[in-house]
Amino acid sequence: MQTYEIPLVPGPTAVCQEVLAAYQVDYGSADLEPEFLKLYGDVQSQLQHIMGTQNQIALMSGEGMVALWGALKSAVQPGEKVLAIATGVFGYGIGDMARAVGAEVETVGFDYDQAATDLARVEKAIRRFRPKMVTLVHCETPSGIMNPAAEVGALVGAYDVPLYYVDAVASMGGAPVKADEWRIDLCLGGTQKVFSSLPDLGIVAVSERAWGFIDEVGYQGYDALAPFRTALADAYFPYTPNWHAVAGLCTASGLLLDEGLEVAFARHKEAAAYCRKRVQEMGLSLFPRDPATSAPTVTVVKVPEGVGWNQLDAALRRRGMVVGGSYGPLADKVFRLGHMGCQADMDLLERGMDTLAEVVQELGV
Ligand SMILES: *Cc1c(COP(=O)(O)O)cnc(C)c1O
Repeated sequence: MQTYEIPLVPGPTAVCQEVLAAYQVDYGSADLEPEFLKLYGDVQSQLQHIMGTQNQIALMSGEGMVALWGALKSAVQPGEKVLAIATGVFGYGIGDMARAVGAEVETVGFDYDQAATDLARVEKAIRRFRPKMVTLVHCETPSGIMNPAAEVGALVGAYDVPLYYVDAVASMGGAPVKADEWRIDLCLGGTQKVFSSLPDLGIVAVSERAWGFIDEVGYQGYDALAPFRTALADAYFPYTPNWHAVAGLCTASGLLLDEGLEVAFARHKEAAAYCRKRVQEMGLSLFPRDPATSAPTVTVVKVPEGVGWNQLDAALRRRGMVVGGSYGPLADKVFRLGHMGCQADMDLLERGMDTLAEVVQELGV
């Protein structure tokens, strides 16, 4: 199988060696072992630090999408109102998912190269539509945009919106996420972005308010959140938990906390700044309209005129480097450099940017 020495894809990210080692341990198979319950509790408290919350955390088998779907289906019933704030593929997508669940959805839509910084528009929509839930994507990975989750949270609080649903899959661990301070009821994460683990767990921090609605909705299914409210206390999980995945996540979140969250955030910021500087020096253009809204975990660059994405991708791969393309309306228009988790590493990025510079020269951009 072909492998690449310079992995700069924005998820699934390269898996840290220490994390991979946690998968190589044999843990035994039962889900009721006291060792497993202790591990789950440890991961929960580590994630609570990383997500800035005291709320209980559900670890569901699957990946980020299982958290996104499960939280929607568990907290919203057909006919209820969901206001989707959308600035990119995931933001618009969550609106579509809520519609599929039967919700009455209104979207406050922005261009893909913009963040939801026009809060007056958001406020107006909340005031008029009176949603049960507001949804937001903190870091739009396909377009490299950071949305103002704190400011939207303040509006959610001011207008007593019952539920605030935030996709923090690609920011959690690489940028401050303060679920309690920002009044987030359903804070969603995954393992294969900043945690640099395998794509095997969906993470949801659930507020007391959200548990109340989850009870009321009564959704049952493989991706239901309800059983996780009592799973740890009762030592009874809805299905066999993925012990290896939970151990991997424990190691991954432990690494971030040992490093120090502020230090990890600074490392991501520095990685992002370095990539942006190098890319612009090559004569390439960044995608976000306002650099201040760029994500610290991913840099999104316009595919240069006259060069196709496929050609660029092939030339990079020939040199052992793999980056991300994009999808939806951005397919072939931009490419993405993922510098999250283990990939927010200056040696790796230096090699990556040197390689990109060679390819840009070769292709005569
Ligand atoms: C990666 C990602 C997800 C989860 O998608 P998966 O396909 O499960 O990895 C959700 N939201 C955002 C913003 C992401 O970057």
